[in-house]
Amino acid sequence: MTETIQTALLGLSLQELTLLVEEAGQPPYRARQLFEALYSGRVESAEQISTLPQDFRRNLAERGFAVGLPSIEQKFVSTDSTVRYLVAFADGQTVETVWMPEGDGGEAGDGSEAGSQLDKSGRAWDRATICVSSQVGCAVDCQFCLTALLGVKRNLTAGEIVGQICAVLNDQQVSPPHDRVNLVFMGMGEPFLNYENFIKAVRLLVEGVGIPEARMTVSTAGIVPRIYDLGAEAVRPKLAISLNASNDELRTRLMPINRKWNLEKLMAAARDFPLRNRERLTFEYVLLDEVNDSAGNAREVVELIRGLRAKVNLIALNPGPGIAFRTPAEEQILRFQKILMASGVPTFIRRPRGRDIYAACGQLKRTVEVGP
Ligand code: SAH
Repeated sequence: MTETIQTALLGLSLQELTLLVEEAGQPPYRARQLFEALYSGRVESAEQISTLPQDFRRNLAERGFAVGLPSIEQKFVSTDSTVRYLVAFADGQTVETVWMPEGDGGEAGDGSEAGSQLDKSGRAWDRATICVSSQVGCAVDCQFCLTALLGVKRNLTAGEIVGQICAVLNDQQVSPPHDRVNLVFMGMGEPFLNYENFIKAVRLLVEGVGIPEARMTVSTAGIVPRIYDLGAEAVRPKLAISLNASNDELRTRLMPINRKWNLEKLMAAARDFPLRNRERLTFEYVLLDEVNDSAGNAREVVELIRGLRAKVNLIALNPGPGIAFRTPAEEQILRFQKILMASGVPTFIRRPRGRDIYAACGQLKRTVEVGP
């Protein structure tokens, strides 16, 4: 049995690959070739790495190394061109990864011809965002989120986080940096409860896959010590904080994690976060009808954010089975936005992507548990 267990090459850093190359008695430059084939070439098997000599490829296989690219089990395409992927890892565990094309025709919405003009490369979009998962399930238990109902099964490794992105890029036949791809670590799981693997994945994505850190955003439910850790990283995504409530009582009810790190601690970490030139923090706020969407709530949000270089993304609740909240009416959402804007807080209403295929925020997991 143990012989068949393979060690994934995906997820290894250049340094780690260098050790592996040395052990095989190969010259050090082979590590760079391996690194490029894995992350930039996104090969599916070591056999495909034609820059490496046959005997080294054989040696890797004999020592039980395999690329370790996850497989795409299922693929759902929305009328708005969003694609939700069910991605499976070696142990059979799955997560969901979402592909969201934007721009020319990427958001035709009604599936009609409108705006579906193809660009020079024959594509109906000019940039795309991949929503990435960091854990199988989630431990945080936010009351409005479907993924929370799963509980957490396990962390993803750095290789699985990167692999999920490579699998989607391969399927879409897209290659950064030539093709403009943004990443949001906003899929299943709480990235800051899997910090080491998450940040290692970020480095591999920047150095290997070629996605600039400025095109990445990580979202946290508010794991305060890790906000400080992220601020100290030399290479890091932008930071988004899932606020979702305007006072402690409400936030504790909606997000029990608030008992551990309350708004005072969370906002202190936000204030201490070292922003780069022109960088802003993002606060996400899921609007729940008659729960957190009043004018009073909006004014409290303004007070919390006062003095911060930040923007707010409002997300109307995406409903789901077992979720005991309602989506506010459009006017209510606009009223909330207006109060924030009037106080100088840039506030955007996030349009749900792929709601028809359960790909929108807070909906990831349905396939795994309920079926398509
Ligand atoms: N665990 C991290 C990463 C997930 S991001 C975090 O909480 O930030 C997912 C985003 O979707 C969060 O901002 C969350 O508040 C939001 N969300 C969760 N459930 C939702 C739902 N049912 N409708 C709309 N947004 C939801």
